[in-house]
Amino acid sequence: DCWPNQGHMEVQGLTVKYTEAGRSVLSDISFSVEGGQSVGLLGRTGSGKSTLLSALLRLASTDGEISIDGVSWSSVSLHTWRKAFGVVPQRVFILTGTFRMNLDPHGRYSDEELWRVAEEVGLKSVIEQFPDKLDFQLEDGGNVLSNGHKQLLCLARSILSKARILLLDEPSAYLDPITLQVLRKTLKHAFSGCTVILSEHRVEPLLECQSFLMIEGSSMKSYDSIQKL
Ligand code: ATP
Ligand code: MG
Repeated sequence: DCWPNQGHMEVQGLTVKYTEAGRSVLSDISFSVEGGQSVGLLGRTGSGKSTLLSALLRLASTDGEISIDGVSWSSVSLHTWRKAFGVVPQRVFILTGTFRMNLDPHGRYSDEELWRVAEEVGLKSVIEQFPDKLDFQLEDGGNVLSNGHKQLLCLARSILSKARILLLDEPSAYLDPITLQVLRKTLKHAFSGCTVILSEHRVEPLLECQSFLMIEGSSMKSYDSIQKL
């Protein structure tokens, strides 16, 4: 069970709509992402960055073909497909349950491992402030946490699940500069060799990406260097 191995993604003729009769937010877009590359995803507010990330996870209604390492999304179960991804959404909704359960839904890791990863993403001191620590029960979408902390929780979960492909939706909007440094370091260490798609409004947080996708209108352009943007 080693799929995906490279994390090479091919997208062909992807069209995404929210309703049958509605307009296409993305229309007939094609691009590919090399395995292990970091890709910056740019576009104005409302251009469809979050929509694209949802479509990659098969959360939106789509036409077109997506494959990862040659395996089509139509040939595997939804569960198998989504397991390939780690996701840090723009607005995080935390499931009702403990920190432990949110970090490790399948109960596969020791406390030691959970604390190590919590520390890596800068959440250790946050979790320690709650009574019961890892066993503290989060409710109402995790409202006791800031959105930035919820994003870090998603990042920690993605490290633990050993996702090959990481989708990050505008982390810089909610994270302060020091936390962004932590994120950058985590991407380098825990996700080295992984495919990363990082959505942002501005170019500055994308300086370490190797290629770029820009959404304009309902179409997409690819760039292989930041100078060409
Ligand atoms: P931002 O930079 O503000 O996060 P974005 O590039 O992520 O914007 P999307 O959230 O993908 O943009 O939205 C793209 C378009 O799709 C917008 O016109 C938006 O109104 C529409 N849209 C997004 N979510 C839905 C939804 N659940 N139902 C209907 N339309 C939606
Ligand atoms: Mg968005």
